[in-house]
Amino acid sequence: MKTIYFDNNATTNIAPEVIDEMLPYLRELYGNPSSMHTFGGQLHRKIEEARSRVAGLLGAGPEEIIFTSCGTESDNTALMSAVESVPHKKHIITSRVEHPAVLNFCKYLARKGYRATYLPVSKQGQLNVDELVKALDEDTAVVSLMYANNESGVIFPVAELGEMLKERGILFHTDAVQAVGKIPIDLKKLPVDMLSLSGHKLHAPKGVGALYVRKGARFHPYIIGGHQEHGRRAGTENVASVIALGKACELAGDNLSQEVIYLKGLRDKLENALLKSCPDARINGDVNSRLPNTTNISFEYVEGEAILLRLNEFGICASSGSACTSGSLEPSHVLRAMGVPATLIHGSIRFSLSRYNTEAEVDKVIEIMPPVIKELRQLSPFGRERIKK
Ligand code: PLP
Repeated sequence: MKTIYFDNNATTNIAPEVIDEMLPYLRELYGNPSSMHTFGGQLHRKIEEARSRVAGLLGAGPEEIIFTSCGTESDNTALMSAVESVPHKKHIITSRVEHPAVLNFCKYLARKGYRATYLPVSKQGQLNVDELVKALDEDTAVVSLMYANNESGVIFPVAELGEMLKERGILFHTDAVQAVGKIPIDLKKLPVDMLSLSGHKLHAPKGVGALYVRKGARFHPYIIGGHQEHGRRAGTENVASVIALGKACELAGDNLSQEVIYLKGLRDKLENALLKSCPDARINGDVNSRLPNTTNISFEYVEGEAILLRLNEFGICASSGSACTSGSLEPSHVLRAMGVPATLIHGSIRFSLSRYNTEAEVDKVIEIMPPVIKELRQLSPFGRERIKK
């Protein structure tokens, strides 16, 4: 059975061109870029090429890119660096819908004596800029707000938020792990001080990421040791993966505008068909400001896990916003923050597409979902009632 992989916000396949680019650095060219000899030293040039490629996708300068081990490390580093840069300030602001890489780090800082404000979101998962203005005070060291949400796909008004924070001279970090490679980002125009990204969300391998730090912004390293990354992130470079990330960014940049149109077309077809063919279904998230590849749909009177298990039997991979499958016992904190009722959270499914998905795959899911939902509703007392009406 062929897998239909609609879970690209969880992770992506490595692009074939990316694998080709990285393989020599796993096989023959295994040197240490810090070595004096040519064998190792030649890798230094490749790392710098990768840095330029990552910078190129973002409209940044190569010197503004620091390679890390993942999105989580980039987020943790940004927050730690920010609070160390202004040691007299003890207030951090984030939102209730951030990824645990930010949320749990803020909780950690709160245990260390910092004050953390978690901004609410609207029913559409959107952030209200006025709420941020109200939360700011003299003591605010940093604001960390995600670019796009991993569960709902909602895109925050990062430019507007950044302008407002720039005027007030407050450091602004954005977790753009889900945005980079999916929508255009131009840091020449976007007033953010730090931005996180992760390789495995854009067809590079797992275990590599990057942190953008605006030139001139104060920075304190989080991983301390050797002189790598100009003393900003110690540890021998993950050479092959860094090169892979560079290639993945180049590929993403080459086709971004066409890809946005392609993915939006597939996603909208899937979404519209499911809303039409499955009664009592609704979209979670701001449809006017969403990643082109993501749809999060709640099917009332069904358990999301039950849907996932049935889809799995057809080789279809997706995610749910409820317990177990997402590795936690709690229903999605994102959907809860959006005020989605518990029954709808438990019946929520996220489909997230990539450039490797096809219309034929979308058609297959459109064909399979309605009978699956109907069959599962027949198993639930509430569902049976609803079907009778
Ligand atoms: N931030 C967001 C929004 C994410 O979706 C993820 C991963 O799912 C991360 C951070 C963490 O990235 P990584 O898996 O590379 O640590």
